[in-house]
Amino acid sequence: MQFIDRAEIQVDGGSGGDGLVAFRREKYVPAGGPAGGNGGKGGSVIMVAVENVQTLLDFRYAHQFKAEDGKRGGPSNRTGANGRDSILEVPIGTVVYDASTGEMLADLVEAGQTFCAAAGGKGGLGNKHFLSNRNRAPEYALPGLPGESRLLRLELKLLAEVGIIGLPNAGKSTLISSLSAARPKVADYPFTTLIPNLGVVRKPSGDGTVFADIPGLIAGAHAGAGLGHEFLRHIERTKVLLHLIDTTDDDPIAAYQTIQEELQAYGRGLANRPQIIALNKIDAVNAETYDLEGLKRTLSELSQVQVFTISAVSREGLEPMLQKLWQLLDEMALVEPLPVSF
Ligand code: GDP
Ligand code: MG
Repeated sequence: MQFIDRAEIQVDGGSGGDGLVAFRREKYVPAGGPAGGNGGKGGSVIMVAVENVQTLLDFRYAHQFKAEDGKRGGPSNRTGANGRDSILEVPIGTVVYDASTGEMLADLVEAGQTFCAAAGGKGGLGNKHFLSNRNRAPEYALPGLPGESRLLRLELKLLAEVGIIGLPNAGKSTLISSLSAARPKVADYPFTTLIPNLGVVRKPSGDGTVFADIPGLIAGAHAGAGLGHEFLRHIERTKVLLHLIDTTDDDPIAAYQTIQEELQAYGRGLANRPQIIALNKIDAVNAETYDLEGLKRTLSELSQVQVFTISAVSREGLEPMLQKLWQLLDEMALVEPLPVSF
């Protein structure tokens, strides 16, 4: 499944430092000449593509990036210090657009590739610079120039390999946040999640695998109910489905069937995509009175897939479930990814 991860950020280069008006004051020199130094250059905002960042999530939380201003020039012709650059680490594959014009500015396809998103301003010239035969004592200097300022749109095509499906409230957002660094909004009512949430989970090998939380899947989704159809289209690109069921639901079997029927109705082979089931919220059921094993058996006979019992909150049971997902993905590694149409 391919998602376009997007973020809009404001980048501002630092201003250049002002030039200084100053005159030499030395012993035995009656009238010192101009000696005001130039301002330092403002820092730039620089993007660099790195391997250990997989999504643009960080840029959803922080939107403004400004590099340091240059320092003003000093006496005795000293140039002011340059402002420090502000370095933004972005995932490989990030495409940078000018948000106002839509123009593409950079396509960061390789690790280590950089793009100067907002150049710092030049420092102003100190009065020393304006010394001439006609003006032996210039009383003026130039101010530093402002840095570049731009509104940028970042876009990243993400390939999510695991799609987490299930009825609203099954615990999809909670699970994705337990599994990864992603921190989606979690709340006690359905439809909190209006855009697919992504989480990156590290495999034992160290690679990041993108999990997508597909929200809003309800009865009638294939026909466009809820946010349904849009998200079914997203699921189409995943390799493996993780079907999450709320164990505290009045009828977990019906919950399973509702989703499964939506997948069937949508067609395109979704219902036959490799799938595992996870019965979630086992921390919330009474182990003595609730027949969890019986439910597990019934579900696995009905679905013909492996059923895990987990708690997204206490994290119980997550490890064996992940192992199975890695195994399924490894088995599918030889399958060519589908071409993407968006
Ligand atoms: P989503 O609609 O599938 O994304 O569900 P959410 O992740 O928003 O979870 C819905 C509600 O169930 C929230 O109040 C969660 O705190 C709660 N929840 C999710 N997972 C668990 C769990 O493992 N145990 C318990 N007790 N509550 C959970
Ligand atoms: Mg959710």
